[in-house]
Amino acid sequence: MTTHSTRMLIIGSGPAGLTAAIYGARAGLAPIVVQGLQPGGQLTITTDVENYPGFRDVIQGPWLVAEMQAQAEHVGTKVMWDTITSVDLSGPPFRAHGDSGDVYEGESLVIATGAQARWLGVPGEAELAGKGVSACATCDGFFYRGKKVVVIGGGNTAVEEALYLTNHSQDVTLIHRRDALRAEKILQNRLFAHPHINVLWNKAVESFMGNPADGGLTGVALTDTVTGAKSVEPAQGAFVAIGHAPATELFRGQLECDAAGYIQVAPGTPKTAIPGVFACGDVMDHTYRQAVTAAGTGCMAALDAERFVAARGFAARTTG
Ligand code: FAD
Ligand code: NAP
Repeated sequence: MTTHSTRMLIIGSGPAGLTAAIYGARAGLAPIVVQGLQPGGQLTITTDVENYPGFRDVIQGPWLVAEMQAQAEHVGTKVMWDTITSVDLSGPPFRAHGDSGDVYEGESLVIATGAQARWLGVPGEAELAGKGVSACATCDGFFYRGKKVVVIGGGNTAVEEALYLTNHSQDVTLIHRRDALRAEKILQNRLFAHPHINVLWNKAVESFMGNPADGGLTGVALTDTVTGAKSVEPAQGAFVAIGHAPATELFRGQLECDAAGYIQVAPGTPKTAIPGVFACGDVMDHTYRQAVTAAGTGCMAALDAERFVAARGFAARTTG
């Protein structure tokens, strides 16, 4: 067992964690990033990224985060191949225990563990992911211009995704397993009033149809949850919008989370209720969930962590 100590410990290696690392390293904090089970984060499971600023041509998600990591390492970040299994936030120093048996100690802690889209888990979904099946309309809607698309779900996210997709498609169908949406009334009103959105009620998705190697998604196989009748809804794009799960299990009981499980921070900041502990990216943001917003809040977390460490150092020097 080895103990690794740093002035800035970062849990998570997506855009939020890696951006925090770039800023932390350039501030001389010699950050340690613990990567977790998905080194590079969610962008590693997508292909084309067209909305990250600075690139006129389409770039690849895995390439983008690999560049971020290279930049972070270039300025002095240490990236560890480990997954945190428990944390002790009673510091500073804040302690995190790795799956490897190693212990990580940070004078400040940046939590950037992200969130994962929930998937239906039905046949064809994993095979056609990125080939017609997506969990992010803002990210991928553009690729379905002029095509028929469906959205699965009945919450705010599903309704917002359906409305957003009308920017690209004149044939949007929302598929919901019940006969009522749980989305806010105002969103429902916009949805029902939209001329390019159709709603299929009481329909459960049984499978996604199509050949990943030849044209991708062609449709979704449905079962009526009331009558049991089977049907097929043709579609070239399907957006699964049944919620996200923020990776906050580790922090339960130590940090306050909202009803959906996202870490609560002081409005407009990455500051949690514990001084020296900061949260950034999708783990604290159920509204925007974009690479650029994750990077932005990662920057904010690092700047605040640097101020926290500097203030402690100053206090120690003047009182000690
Ligand atoms: P994540 O990217 O989720 O990274 C979380 C990190 O935390 C991972 O490295 C993980 O291994 C680590 N972690 C979790 N638990 C632990 C643990 N216990 N110990 C150590 N590490 C841990 N956004 C865009 O802006 N444009 C797009 O085109 C786009 N396309 C997308 C396509 C898909 C298919 C998906 C799923 C998302 C897409 N997004 C896109 C959204 C974007 O990927 C996320 O908003 C962004 O990755 C969030 O960054 P993050 O750093 O907060 O978290
Ligand atoms: P959500 O509110 O939990 O809704 C998930 C939807 O997916 C529900 O309609 C649910 O159906 C359906 N669903 C879940 N599992 C399913 C399955 N296996 N098969 C088929 N359908 C399934 O999730 P969300 O819409 O992502 O919202 C999450 C939180 O973020 C909410 O608090 C929401 O208010 C908030 N949010 C707010 C905004 C905003 O304010 N503009 C935007 C987006 C999200 P049932 O209804 O039958 O359970």
